[in-house]
Amino acid sequence: MADVQHLSHALEGVSVQDENYDTTAPPVPYKSKSIAANGPQSRLKLPLQKIPSNAAPKPAQLTKITLPSQAAQQRSSAESRPSDSSADPISQPQEVKQKPKQYHLGMFEIGKPLGKGKFGRVYLARERASGFVCALKVLHKSELQQGKVEKQVRREIEIQSNLAHPHCLRLYGHFHDSKRIFLILEFAGKGELYKHLRKAGKFPEWQAAQYIAQMASALKYLHKKHVMHRDIKPENILVGIHGEIKISDFGWSVHAPNNRRNTMCGTLDYLPPEMIKPGREENWYTEKVDLWSLGVLTYEFLVGEAPFEDTPVMTQRRIAKCDMSIPPNLSPEARDLIKRLLVLDPEKRISLEDVETHPWIIKHCVKGERAYNRASFEKK
Ligand code: AMP
Repeated sequence: MADVQHLSHALEGVSVQDENYDTTAPPVPYKSKSIAANGPQSRLKLPLQKIPSNAAPKPAQLTKITLPSQAAQQRSSAESRPSDSSADPISQPQEVKQKPKQYHLGMFEIGKPLGKGKFGRVYLARERASGFVCALKVLHKSELQQGKVEKQVRREIEIQSNLAHPHCLRLYGHFHDSKRIFLILEFAGKGELYKHLRKAGKFPEWQAAQYIAQMASALKYLHKKHVMHRDIKPENILVGIHGEIKISDFGWSVHAPNNRRNTMCGTLDYLPPEMIKPGREENWYTEKVDLWSLGVLTYEFLVGEAPFEDTPVMTQRRIAKCDMSIPPNLSPEARDLIKRLLVLDPEKRISLEDVETHPWIIKHCVKGERAYNRASFEKK
């Protein structure tokens, strides 16, 4: 069992900074994985601000946490304490919470590290009182300040904590101390979709179609809430214990327009033409940007590489002209959906409703799968 004092010390890492966010500083990409290091394929990137690596030392001893499924956890906590929202608010959807619970590190047992992002580490964790298994993301305030991403993190917390959908990674709560911010996240038992894709090379059509149906359902939910994700790509999708996908990383999500120059994200491959072409400002921030990215995602799932992968200059040129070729071995239905999503005019892209009923989706998504999604969504 990890000693929390020890863990707290181990997680501390770098110099002390107070929680004075500079909201006037221009944001830089919060999320930037070294994709080249993760797989054989290197993604072309825009220049990103460099942050000195001052990662926290690893905790020496960690609790071994065995996992019930998230669904089982949700069910059993809901069944055993249906009315006591203060006893187990971590498993309750945000909407039914009576009042936000004050969390602190001592309330969690910390398990194995799950991964490391640019600004922090993620650990498997369990809330002591309820036994609820989750992922605890530890962000160092000093690193966020150095990276000028405090605003993005705030926005990510605000947006993600108000979402409750089976295919959007839940953020159950957050707390902080003088040096760190802790995000209590839903645990995605099968890790990053990106790694699964790189390992498989490409996905069979039935699997890709099921993933795209889940993405469409999640995006429909987000857009109804006037949230655009704006950074849909395999690196930002996690996989749950049952193989279901969970959109994560809401660092680039917005409710409202922002400044274009500052919002260019890590990889160019998923950027829609309206964010590249000059003189099309009115289109930069409609939710249709996510439809374009969904098209790129569909293509990458089926082909194993993004449709406009090239040198940075050429990628931009090719996106602006939608210059891509779809391999002939793809089914006519898959080709059709890709062509309907990757449309230069944002208004002419297929709607999410029509994606869900597209012949390719219908062909591959068995009734049970969609019923499961619907049922688990309606429960929330
Ligand atoms: P991030 O800083 O969000 O990029 O997270 C770093 C890595 O930790 C990811 O690439 C995942 O491998 C892992 N990770 C992050 N969040 C979770 C989660 N909720 N469940 C499981 N693994 C996670």
